[in-house]
Amino acid sequence: MTKPVTTCQCFQENVQENLVRHFSILDIASKFQETNARVNRALFRAVTDCGCISIDASKQILPDDCSFEDVRNYLKSHLQGQLCENCKEVLEAEVGQNLFYLTGLCNSLGLNLEEIIHKEAQRVNTLGMFHLR
Ligand SMILES: [Zn+2]
Repeated sequence: MTKPVTTCQCFQENVQENLVRHFSILDIASKFQETNARVNRALFRAVTDCGCISIDASKQILPDDCSFEDVRNYLKSHLQGQLCENCKEVLEAEVGQNLFYLTGLCNSLGLNLEEIIHKEAQRVNTLGMFHLR
């Protein structure tokens, strides 16, 4: 009995078939980094050009008696507002491009994206709140 093909596996195969222009590992790694920068650029343009969201950042202050479990109640995202439809669409496209090259990187190195996601999910579930990076 064969395992069902997942969206992740389909995407990985699709990238494998369509990643022709930047086939060298050097091109893929640099395109991955470039598309990551474009994700950040789209985020910042939503703030500075569109204005649908804003960033109001300051030092994160935790009470002295704050337990590890309560940290989440005191931390701020520093993000205000919501993405408008246009900015959401732009960011989704940039994240998609970034995923494309991340997947291309996995393909080149013989890494299975679905296995990576599964292992990471297990690690996060096992470590829970102690999963700090
Ligand atoms: Zn916007």
